[in-house]
Amino acid sequence: MAKVAFIGLGRMGNGMAGRYLDSGFTVAVWNRSKAKADDLIARGARWARSPADAADGADAVVTMVADDAASRAVWLGKDGAAGTAKAGTLAIECSTVSYGHALDLARELRGRGLVYIDSPVAGLPDAAASGKLTLLVGAEPADLVRARPYLTPLSTIIRHFGAVGTGTVYKLINNLMGAIQIAGIAEGLAIAEQAGLDMRLVLEAVETGVAASPQVIRHSKRMVARNFSGATFTAALRHKDAVYAVALAESLLSDAPLMGRAAVHAYDKAKAYAPDDDEGKMIEIVSRPKGAAT
Ligand code: NAP
Repeated sequence: MAKVAFIGLGRMGNGMAGRYLDSGFTVAVWNRSKAKADDLIARGARWARSPADAADGADAVVTMVADDAASRAVWLGKDGAAGTAKAGTLAIECSTVSYGHALDLARELRGRGLVYIDSPVAGLPDAAASGKLTLLVGAEPADLVRARPYLTPLSTIIRHFGAVGTGTVYKLINNLMGAIQIAGIAEGLAIAEQAGLDMRLVLEAVETGVAASPQVIRHSKRMVARNFSGATFTAALRHKDAVYAVALAESLLSDAPLMGRAAVHAYDKAKAYAPDDDEGKMIEIVSRPKGAAT
């Protein structure tokens, strides 16, 4: 039975770890706060005392944590997974991290004999729990062949962009475009509200108009209803992704990434307002009428 160490059991990671249990893998789990592992332990996962304990004897280590700092901590920190993972173990980073971090981590882990793949994901927590994510992979082709049995339980689509780091590049582009769209739809809807338009008609026009995307459609409904229950992606995570994407853009493009910087600015505010709430709360910031107290 193949052994997976799964590290990071937040909104996404908990469901992903569950997919390995459902698929018959032997699973060891670790999370900074243990309570998020309880349901997985009840389903047969082994609770590991640390990332190092989880990785001990694993065939693949899969991580799904918040950002660069968390990724560095669980792989390379005291009691990190790299300390015990044996040579040849697959190291699959699913977190959305910066491009620089993906390359640094790959170098460090390869230096220790591990096989590194970056595999950030597209899809919400429900897709994570049902194995319907799209994986955005950067890997050597032979490494991807080895990793496939560990990727298929998580996903319906595996997009291989090229060498290590390229999956992260695409993920950051994808999420920057998303940040711009969400900030844009919040502003558009706020204008419509303040101008007194019938928001039922506005929503219908948005949904069937040329600016519609699955993301715009999903967020516009929730924004107009001010319904942010069941946050799936927080303002803090969206801000983090936009910052990483802008840093990448600045390293590649001679002119400023104007829209990207505007999105970072918008999500700076959303993060200060409600960091752990749904990113769509952006509309509560931009819809304050002119002249209202801030
Ligand atoms: P989340 O619910 O906020 O979970 C974050 C996870 O990171 C938790 O397990 C948390 O541990 C852990 N963590 C944070 N800082 C840490 C540290 N310093 N050391 C160790 N662990 C740390 O986030 P999520 O929504 O699952 O997102 C996880 C990753 O997937 C992020 O990179 C995000 O950008 C990406 N992503 C999310 C979605 C989505 O729809 N939510 C979609 C695609 C990609 P605790 O539980 O102890 O806090």
